[in-house]
Amino acid sequence: MKITTGNDGHSRSAMPGIAWEASPGKGLDVNRTPAPVIDYLRVSITDRCNFRCIYCMPPEGVHAKLHEQILSFEEIERFVFVATTMGVSRVRVTGGEPLVRKGCTGLLARLAALPGVEDLSLTTNGSLLAGHEEQLRQAGLSRINISIDSLNPQRFRRITSGRELRPVLAGLERALDAGLAPVKVNAVMLEGIEDDVEAFVRLARERPVHVRFIEFMPIGRRRGGDWRFVSRRRLMDLIGRFGKLEPAHSPAGGGPARYFRLDGMLGTVGFISSMSDHFCSRCNRLRLTADGRLRNCLFSDKEVDVRPFIGGDPDILRRVIRYSINSKRFNRLAEDPGARTMAQLGG
Ligand code: SAM
Ligand code: SF4
Repeated sequence: MKITTGNDGHSRSAMPGIAWEASPGKGLDVNRTPAPVIDYLRVSITDRCNFRCIYCMPPEGVHAKLHEQILSFEEIERFVFVATTMGVSRVRVTGGEPLVRKGCTGLLARLAALPGVEDLSLTTNGSLLAGHEEQLRQAGLSRINISIDSLNPQRFRRITSGRELRPVLAGLERALDAGLAPVKVNAVMLEGIEDDVEAFVRLARERPVHVRFIEFMPIGRRRGGDWRFVSRRRLMDLIGRFGKLEPAHSPAGGGPARYFRLDGMLGTVGFISSMSDHFCSRCNRLRLTADGRLRNCLFSDKEVDVRPFIGGDPDILRRVIRYSINSKRFNRLAEDPGARTMAQLGG
């Protein structure tokens, strides 16, 4: 593999193993004009999931990796630490379903304690959340995203291939009570169920919840399905029937969502329009898959296997990370997402 060395001017340790140096912190300029700063890392800690959302996983599930094929918590911690020395300061733990991996809370505590991790968040389907919220808060989790694609129990069952909505809503309430704020709800709107927006608007009105409508992306093996995304514009039209949408500040975490509020709402509604808008040029993220591959774009199947470098000289690992960043094309239309499902990639 060709590795570009780059020159970010950050001090580096030549010692093997991890050097607990402070993060230089300001994000990594990738020598492009304009130069997006790569400061956000999504870490998938498992490819397993207790749900089978129809647009994400085939009903029989995917062939899950063996335990030894998945990064250990020590490897994840080392990787995240080295990434922070290159300017990553925001880390999101995801999956598969992260809470199905034993010890997830312990890992979060280790990541939260890393110098340089300024913002630690979790994306979960919420089914195992109730009862763990206090542990998560104590672990240092800053905030949480819960994926709920419908607030109608029957529809929810259809979308998740038979799972129940009630425990997820209980998890949402517990997260609010525990102060894991802001609580964001991710709702992938598929064509045909867009009338669900009314219930989501009610949720954002009555609870301090930030509901983000996500345009379905044709990624992984499920892209052959019959689902179509509902555009931000269509959703804004539908929501506009309940009042005037006024632009709102982004809750903590930023990201590509644009937020709005209807008069009297405790929360907000947001839109992540990955399909109808192009925000590639502003992309600030990298993804680490559960089996130790670095993806610089959700829509690209080009991955760099970083696992062999995690236990060695952090300087070499930094070069490998830089190689991945420098290969980022900032143009999803130029990429081919390949066959890996979102559950394998971490969303
Ligand atoms: N299991 C957790 C969950 O559902 O929140 C974390 C992993 S899941 C892959 C992360 C996010 O990706 C979820 O909000 C899910 O709805 C979203 N997602 C999965 N497949 C998608 C697709 N094809 N297009 C858009 N979003 C997708
Ligand atoms: Fe599992 Fe999340 Fe994919 Fe649903 S969206 S199948 S909960 S990984």
